[in-house]
Amino acid sequence: MLADKDRIFTNVYGFQPWNLDAAIKRGDWDDTKGLMARGQDALIDAVKASGLRGRGGAGFPTGTKWSFMPKEPKADRPNFLVINADESEPGSCKDREIIRHDPHKLIEGALIAGFAMRARAAYIYIRGEYIREAEVLFAAIAEAYDKGLIGKNACGSGYDFDVFCHRGAGAYICGEETAMLESLEGKKGQPRLKPPFPAGAGLYGCPTTVNNVESIAVVPTILRRSPEWFASFGAENNRGTKLFQISGHVNKPCVVEEAMSITFRELIETHCGGIRGGWDNLLAVIPGGSSVPLVPAAEIMDCPMDFDGLKKVGSGLGTAAIIVMDKSTDIVRAISRLSYFYKHESCGQCTPCREGTGWMWRVMERMRTGDADISEIDTLYQVTKQVEGHTICALGDAAAWPIQGLIKHFRPEMERRITEKRGGGLSPMMEAAE
Ligand code: NAD
Ligand code: SF4
Repeated sequence: MLADKDRIFTNVYGFQPWNLDAAIKRGDWDDTKGLMARGQDALIDAVKASGLRGRGGAGFPTGTKWSFMPKEPKADRPNFLVINADESEPGSCKDREIIRHDPHKLIEGALIAGFAMRARAAYIYIRGEYIREAEVLFAAIAEAYDKGLIGKNACGSGYDFDVFCHRGAGAYICGEETAMLESLEGKKGQPRLKPPFPAGAGLYGCPTTVNNVESIAVVPTILRRSPEWFASFGAENNRGTKLFQISGHVNKPCVVEEAMSITFRELIETHCGGIRGGWDNLLAVIPGGSSVPLVPAAEIMDCPMDFDGLKKVGSGLGTAAIIVMDKSTDIVRAISRLSYFYKHESCGQCTPCREGTGWMWRVMERMRTGDADISEIDTLYQVTKQVEGHTICALGDAAAWPIQGLIKHFRPEMERRITEKRGGGLSPMMEAAE
């Protein structure tokens, strides 16, 4: 179990106020000018050495991403930092806790990251539904401006840096980084083709790095405590501490900071009081927010909760939003509900996603009610394969993977409900074939 002294987010439950005075007492904004004085390249090297990988779901190495930004930005083409606070992945709720209770970690991180990347300003794009969180963030930014921590000559460093907060309007797709840039520019939030990646052409066509809230908020602590300290947690290639969000059928759902690579069993036993009804009652887990395939009970128990461990069981860490399902769950219905979500949130720009998400959901609904034909399970699988990898953004993959996981692990259950609905008889399609 992670010791309290090693927690970065010491106010994640909001036992203390979020405001600047309380944040300073917790160690935030402590000699930020001194950290910046280490120099931009040294800061990027330190983040690289820490092994920090992006906490928004994809796990791209943060320091490497920063190093893609131009070192000599042109006056008419400044560098920008965009912070993704459009946390909308079903099951994900960690960035919300950071903004609610520790907003100064994010603002200080924005200044340091922005300085390291020679950025002119940071835009924090916060999801529209986070109304109270946005109020806290606006107030915390105002406090930081009042004290000269950001703005002109930020922290007395001689560096000018602005932080803006922009509220989204409730579209999941605006969490996709290029859709977010479109939305910030005042356009319809639809993903762009990549490449070019944002570091080449981002906000207003300028070099831009998009980072998740947690990725930025951990940076000041990594620099103060050392990259080696951060890298001492977790397994090779999966370093650091991480906010896990555990929901569903555990005795005590929670958001908790733990060392990467902790096993699922230890995480649940230590922080969630175990599985509702005991471990024998566990059916399956979606370990990384709804965009990753589910993992059946037997395979998840002793799995390390990190990028590589979950890849080995055919899933992913994603945002580390762990959705636990016990044996009372109608698993076909649960996945069908996710299919509806992706159909609803598809931006409609590319055909495999626009048509495929609706088609998959309609078939999933017939699977749920048992009105499908058994042969359609294979057709459904083939369609998910046609959607996967053939769309502009990852939403297509995200819609396909949960269904693939269901078919892989719960095919007998899908067949059972179809057969039972027919009283064991053949379907009209099979009868015709006979
Ligand atoms: P991605 O792998 O395409 O990109 C990850 C990051 O690395 C991006 O910033 C991208 O610009 C950068 N990158 C990747 N390859 C690069 C290259 N060759 N050169 C320069 N930069 C490069 O993934 P993505 O589409 O940004 O994100 C998908 C993930 O988002 C999913 O795994 C899912 O878990 C997660 N997600 C999170 C939420 C949430 O609420 N936090 C919501 C939906 C999805
Ligand atoms: Fe839009 Fe879906 Fe295509 Fe992404 S995959 S661009 S959400 S239609």
